[in-house]
Amino acid sequence: MSIAENLELVRARIRRACERANRSPDEVILVGASKTFAAERIIEAVQAGLMDIGENYVQEALPKIAAVTAAGLQPRWHFIGHLQTNKVKQALAAFDLIQTVDSLHLAEVISRRAQRPVAILLEVNVGSELSKFGFAPEEVVPAAEQIGRLPNLDVQGLMTVAPIVDDPNELRPLFRQLRALRDTLGLRHLSMGMTDDFEVAIEEGSTMVRLGRAIFGERVVAAPAGSQVSTS
Ligand SMILES: *Cc1c(COP(=O)(O)O)cnc(C)c1O
Repeated sequence: MSIAENLELVRARIRRACERANRSPDEVILVGASKTFAAERIIEAVQAGLMDIGENYVQEALPKIAAVTAAGLQPRWHFIGHLQTNKVKQALAAFDLIQTVDSLHLAEVISRRAQRPVAILLEVNVGSELSKFGFAPEEVVPAAEQIGRLPNLDVQGLMTVAPIVDDPNELRPLFRQLRALRDTLGLRHLSMGMTDDFEVAIEEGSTMVRLGRAIFGERVVAAPAGSQVSTS
């Protein structure tokens, strides 16, 4: 199947999940998670109407962003990996939204380096998995208040990478917990939902789903060590 066909199927599934939850599909931003996929595949997706692209590694993303830009295309670029502080400057120059602010220290570095207000999401480790980055659920409200006071940071919402489970319905309590935190903070965005769980995430209030395999097909290259997700 072509990327355009995959996108059409994904959009239909998003629409149906929205119908079940009595939501408008306009409330859900589809972000293509393109790690390991070549710039040509991203170009194909953007030409088929995908407006938002997420990348996990600054080093991998920069040449791909350059190639997509050279093709005359300008999707919104989301950073969705673990951001090392020594890559903040490059990330700020290339990305429109940093979805994965996972510590107060990283927020401070971004704030210091920013020349203009930077849109960010705070990453929450809802499953409290040791292997994952992000604020613990009980830390995020005080952290958001502190981070919200730093100059040049525009905190727009919360993001999570949910644990891998057999049945996505098992994730509902975690998605609900993230939504409740977002509501407590009065923020707009809730970035949750990947290929295996996006319909459940939408039913639980997601405003951004990050889909890799459902759009681009199976990843054949293993993600580098330190990646937040397995590529099973
Ligand atoms: C890889 C990745 C995705 C997409 O995963 P799929 O299972 O391919 O949909 C979403 N979010 C993050 C943070 C990722 O690393």
